[in-house]
Amino acid sequence: MRFSICAAIVFIFIHSPVFSQEYSFSDNDKYVLVIHGGAGTLLPGKMSAEKERAYRDKLTEALSAGYEKIKNGGQSLDAVTAAITVMEDSPLFNAGKGAVMTHEGKNELDASIMDGATQDAGAVAGITTVKNPILAARSVMEKSGHVMLSGPGAEHFAESQGLEIVAPEYFWTERRWENLQRVLEKDSAQVELDHDEKQTFSPPVVDNIDDKFGTVGAVARDKKGSLAAGTSTGGMNNKRFGRIGDSPIIGAGNYANNQVAISCTGWGEFYIRTVAAYNVASQMKLLGLSVEEASENVIEEIGNLGGTGGMIALDKDGNYATPFNTAGMYRGTVNEKGEIKVEIFK
Ligand code: ASP
Repeated sequence: MRFSICAAIVFIFIHSPVFSQEYSFSDNDKYVLVIHGGAGTLLPGKMSAEKERAYRDKLTEALSAGYEKIKNGGQSLDAVTAAITVMEDSPLFNAGKGAVMTHEGKNELDASIMDGATQDAGAVAGITTVKNPILAARSVMEKSGHVMLSGPGAEHFAESQGLEIVAPEYFWTERRWENLQRVLEKDSAQVELDHDEKQTFSPPVVDNIDDKFGTVGAVARDKKGSLAAGTSTGGMNNKRFGRIGDSPIIGAGNYANNQVAISCTGWGEFYIRTVAAYNVASQMKLLGLSVEEASENVIEEIGNLGGTGGMIALDKDGNYATPFNTAGMYRGTVNEKGEIKVEIFK
């Protein structure tokens, strides 16, 4: 009798939702961080050695910043925000300091973050004065009681949380201004993304430049096996009418649960229409696919619709995939041994 009561208690404990939520991770030391700095047609011959070195160095710096967090027992969320903050502070990427411009010559930033263990999420859209949008997204998740805040309200909230506020001009860069002027001279209605060479969409049509998708993102697994995903972007060059892409939309440009974490880069409208990030998680859960199979399926679906881009996806066991249907994607990984790998081209 006593034995059967004990067995019943153990059975209830093992099968309770709390147990499966907190302890279903494989509890080993395999921790890993994967980042991206945007997908696009990055042709090896068209990039100067100096420019390539600058990108590789900055990706390495972002990986190191995230690695330090998880190595010292920090959460995957800490690694994600540390890595993304480094990229937001660099003019190389279309996020934070390097954000592309709106039709009016302004910078409107979007970001999101998700905690896989709790499925808490936070996002900001169309903000112009918060130095690090990913930190604003994290504050929304942890302090606001909401998931997504936009525009002046989001800025007001970020300021109330003590985040660094800058003048909108902080985000202005010569390079992005010239990118905007080039598009405006050709066709003021044209919209384009960072890091891409040639697009065939109509509309919008995109011309020959070597950089169009430049959104940044990170996915991480910490020592406890918890996953997190974050994404930050300036959106599309010459965007108008308060356009918001996939990056701040949970399930489209960013998603994490206790099985997988995903961050996307590419033509946002296609990622929204395919619910890209959640689509990967669903295919893994419902079809039993691996992280590679599921993420490649979704990139293929985006390609079939005429969209381009890529994503990074990391599963609970530390397996990851970085599929893209463009010629390249800025990306990198660091594992539990501190081994860093950075890649740009196919
Ligand atoms: N996905 C982003 C957007 O559509 C752009 C990018 O990835 O660079 O806003």
